[in-house]
Amino acid sequence: MSEQKPLRVAIIGAGTVGSQVISLMNSQADDLKMRIGAPLELIGVGVKDLTKDRPGIAKDLLTDDISALLDKKPDVVIELMGSIEPARKFILQAINNGSSVISANKALLAKDGATLHKAAEKADVDLYYEASVAGAIPLLRPLRESLVGDDVVKILGIVNGTTNYILTKMDELGESFDSALKSAQDLGYAETDPTADVMGHDAASKAAILAQLAFHTRVTIDDVYCEGITSITQQDVKAAQQMGFVIKLLAVAEKVKENAIVVRVHPAMIPVAHPLASVREAFNAVFVQAKAAGSLMFYGQGAGGAPTASAVLGDLVAVGRNRVSQKRGPGESVYADAEILPIASALTSYYLNLEVADQPGVLAEISAAFATQGVSIQTVRQETRGKVASLIIRTHQAKESYLASVLSDLKNLSAVKQINGVMRVEGDEPS
Ligand code: NAP
Repeated sequence: MSEQKPLRVAIIGAGTVGSQVISLMNSQADDLKMRIGAPLELIGVGVKDLTKDRPGIAKDLLTDDISALLDKKPDVVIELMGSIEPARKFILQAINNGSSVISANKALLAKDGATLHKAAEKADVDLYYEASVAGAIPLLRPLRESLVGDDVVKILGIVNGTTNYILTKMDELGESFDSALKSAQDLGYAETDPTADVMGHDAASKAAILAQLAFHTRVTIDDVYCEGITSITQQDVKAAQQMGFVIKLLAVAEKVKENAIVVRVHPAMIPVAHPLASVREAFNAVFVQAKAAGSLMFYGQGAGGAPTASAVLGDLVAVGRNRVSQKRGPGESVYADAEILPIASALTSYYLNLEVADQPGVLAEISAAFATQGVSIQTVRQETRGKVASLIIRTHQAKESYLASVLSDLKNLSAVKQINGVMRVEGDEPS
């Protein structure tokens, strides 16, 4: 039998992830050849700074002329440089040259995945991006292939390790947000500029990618409601603990009615008994609810060079096999074209912490404000301190817009001195 000719691979970006991909391609070359059915030949590595020391990468493979590298028409181009431009330009050049593309670039896929998918469809090449969400955790392929026969109704995910680390330290060590952020930075979990993580933007990109795959609908980052964790205080953390909850930054994508979805990222309280509550430190986990499959949880390392490289290599084997058998994997599936509704249509339950006058009739007045808007109260806990009382209220599931009306009515009640905290509660829906 004649030896299959090598698959030519170009990599753009040799940083945290790219360097690990190259290392795994070298150390596992024989196994990868057997699994793909053809050997891999690395024909070039595009970088910005040619003077950097890059152990493990042959100097003659390095280039800062990415465009010329792509014009050598590799079978597979792996984009690991990040950001929107010039990554988009290079990926489109690769696709138009007939190369299959693998990327870990969540920002670009959530911003303009449609352009890349359409180009890949037209050029009849693969576009795979397993590493763009939750690092090592196999998640996109299960959604795109294993669960494609089922009806996904909701996804709840902890998809940002930095914020999960910060919230874990606030919960377990009683640290403030600022001090937990500093320790995340000292340990390398958070960037010097942590904005994308703590404001929820990184999680929102991932939420868009997950929602698109789960609901067969084009979803971009602009469709995702986004709130970060910067305003979470120790008071919120303690209140959650007292009720048997823990605060997590969640990416939520859900079907709210037939062919309509809401995609949102925000801090939320979840019961300590929920599987996501035990996801600590920088780990990621995604909880998927599907009609026939029931509840599934995907858990593991959501970032880091080697874990992310594992997902890239998985894509490389899949894309390599497709090239060898002259096929294409599944393309973009957006046939459902579900309506993407604003956060006001989200269905969740709520925690409210109110400071109220400790006088007769107050509870009845407050209950009436909820009842008028059709929001039903699940539990109320009262603590009296002198002339004021603190009311901790948990509601049943209600539409976000109804809760907003309750809040505006509460602000007009003279007995309500202050609204100290309002947070969504997830993971305690009746099954
Ligand atoms: P990184 O360490 O910053 O590496 C980026 C690489 O791209 C560097 O080698 C850099 O070259 C090169 N590069 C950047 N701009 C370039 C340009 N204009 N022209 C040529 N080369 C350029 O990034 P990373 O952490 O490996 O992340 C890569 C991708 O993986 C990103 O899309 C990221 O979102 C995604 N990702 C990362 C992780 C993670 O844990 N790090 C996890 C999941 C997904 P120089 O080396 O010369 O500077």
